[in-house]
Amino acid sequence: MAKNIFCTRCGSDLDYQATQCQCGFIMPSEERRIIGYNLETINNSILIDEEYAYITISSFEDLLNNYQLSSLYFTSGGAKKAYEKKVDFLKSDLLPKIENWREIIQISDEKISLEKVELFSKIYGITELILKEYFGPFTIKENNLEVFTEFRDFSRYQVSTTVLETEIDFTDIKTTNLGTIGHNILDSVGNTLDKGSFKELSKKTEWSDSDVKRVKAEVGVAIAGELIVGIGSIISQTQDAIKNVRIADNELNCKLEEINDLINSLSIEENEIEKQKRLYDKCNMIIDSCYERILKPIFEELNNDPVYIEYRDKRIPFDLEQERIKMDDEALNENVSISFWGCLLNNNARNYKVYWKKRIKKLNKLDRYSEINSILKSKRHKTIAECSSYKELKLSEFKDFEMINRRVLKSRPIISNNKREVIGFAQVFNKVKYNINNS
Ligand SMILES: [Zn+2]
Repeated sequence: MAKNIFCTRCGSDLDYQATQCQCGFIMPSEERRIIGYNLETINNSILIDEEYAYITISSFEDLLNNYQLSSLYFTSGGAKKAYEKKVDFLKSDLLPKIENWREIIQISDEKISLEKVELFSKIYGITELILKEYFGPFTIKENNLEVFTEFRDFSRYQVSTTVLETEIDFTDIKTTNLGTIGHNILDSVGNTLDKGSFKELSKKTEWSDSDVKRVKAEVGVAIAGELIVGIGSIISQTQDAIKNVRIADNELNCKLEEINDLINSLSIEENEIEKQKRLYDKCNMIIDSCYERILKPIFEELNNDPVYIEYRDKRIPFDLEQERIKMDDEALNENVSISFWGCLLNNNARNYKVYWKKRIKKLNKLDRYSEINSILKSKRHKTIAECSSYKELKLSEFKDFEMINRRVLKSRPIISNNKREVIGFAQVFNKVKYNINNS
């Protein structure tokens, strides 16, 4: 049984024997037992079979111990044969094993990235529920919710960089288990991802750490392979064969040192992946358990509140208008090739229309845009000025709508009685962030 568990109310580490957390929560013993058992399972699970490292290292040792050239050769044929045997072993035994191991590490790395995306998607989704549904999108100052906007942006950033680094797409995320958090969160994450707004956050201008790691490993293997081929031809072309075999062998030994470094870095990466796996498993579990205890009952009740239901239905056109505005913004930021002569010959309105259509098509959002327009019974903008005055007007209408409705919602018992609990969830996010930063 894991000695350290965590509090399912605030997410803090807790001694298994302790009955009460510093937040005051007394965890039932059955729950402590379950959390302890699940954490134990996480700590004992292994993602990468140790066998891959073991057989690779053994093969390398075998090469060093049994395939070195002897100090004395009487004929060039003997030296050449010994050298070729060494190269042959390297090519047929060691390199495939390294390649295999490296591949497993890469696949595991992608699994971890998916878990990371899963975790930060949950955090993102929960902050959206708190900010948009529970308190309302324009009440951040009034309710001191800045900490949640920070977590929302932080988690969006984390999702976006992970998605870009690994080229995970939304269909991968859709198939991951979002646990107790459920589908409404997945939907909000899905919408955001789909709208590409995660991507705009982090533009890939430089190599990420994981790219560098991956490329390094690939280059290491490739260099070793190429060198072997090159040296083979030197030997046969020259006359002073024994001497040249020695030169080739020296160079090969230098390369073996590179392979040694490569093996070390793969071992380090393997350990790092196992550590990360335990970390993200634990953090996912903290979020799931605390959400289940604190927020799930509150949001379930909110979703059944007749006043909230009515409000949510009335909000639909406002949400659609905001979605449309976001799409227009995205389209305007999208680069498309612009024809100089076209711009010169057409008037502004015509240019706006043509290029807007190109852009929205490039974003693959023309259908959704038209769908929203037909629901709202509105027409496309004709000029950029029209677009921006629409944006201003609709935002202010949305604010007015929220102001009126939130006045009523605020006094509903489900909202007025649970405010502290909902705001208190920031503690759980803090705990998860702390775990990630201090792992
Ligand atoms: Zn606690």
